[in-house]
Amino acid sequence: MHEEILSWNEMCGREGRNLQAGMHFRSGGSYSVLLMSTRKNAPYPDAMAEGGTVLIYVGHDAPRKNGNDTALVDQPRYLPKGGLTQNGKFHEAAQAHKQGNRAAERVRVYEKLRDGLWADNGWFLLVDSWQEDDGVRLVFKFKLVAVDDPLSVADESYVAERRRMIPPAVKLAVWKRDSGRCVQCGSTENLHFDHIIPWSRGGASDTAENVQLLCGRHNIQKGSRIE
Ligand SMILES: [Zn+2]
Repeated sequence: MHEEILSWNEMCGREGRNLQAGMHFRSGGSYSVLLMSTRKNAPYPDAMAEGGTVLIYVGHDAPRKNGNDTALVDQPRYLPKGGLTQNGKFHEAAQAHKQGNRAAERVRVYEKLRDGLWADNGWFLLVDSWQEDDGVRLVFKFKLVAVDDPLSVADESYVAERRRMIPPAVKLAVWKRDSGRCVQCGSTENLHFDHIIPWSRGGASDTAENVQLLCGRHNIQKGSRIE
């Protein structure tokens, strides 16, 4: 799994929709989409856990209305007219999975690294959710496990088959060091964060020394050499 680097337009084009809102339950037909960020000034404090194999995603506030600060009230589960909010939809899916009533929802996660710079963080499975007091009000939290191929992972085995994300600080350091270009040919198109030594062979994800920028062509060439 190589985390692909995208612009906002490329991301929206790929998903066939405007992704402004951040949470999109079943927007992909058979899967959902979440936008995340762990940046200090990010709107919600999403976090990585369990060695970078788990994402703890924070639910979203009600839309601002008449200047009301909705960051001070409980994150809503229901819309004013009674339907589920995005929080409610993801929460119901996670609870149904926990109770054994459905497979874990497949989720595609995109991460904002900085303005105009996004990474496709790949596939995740939504395995749990809860409400938590953040000191001011109740917020929703969602636990997602990173996996390589969500269709090949049986529900019981996702713990063994989890994938490790590259921390955002490492991605930004690599982007800067490699000047936003493929280290092989200098291309600025279709770039990926590549593990120099693959994680499956013991290579680290949490240090910039083992991560480099490769264009799509050189990424594929390297992949076929390693296989
Ligand atoms: Zn290249």
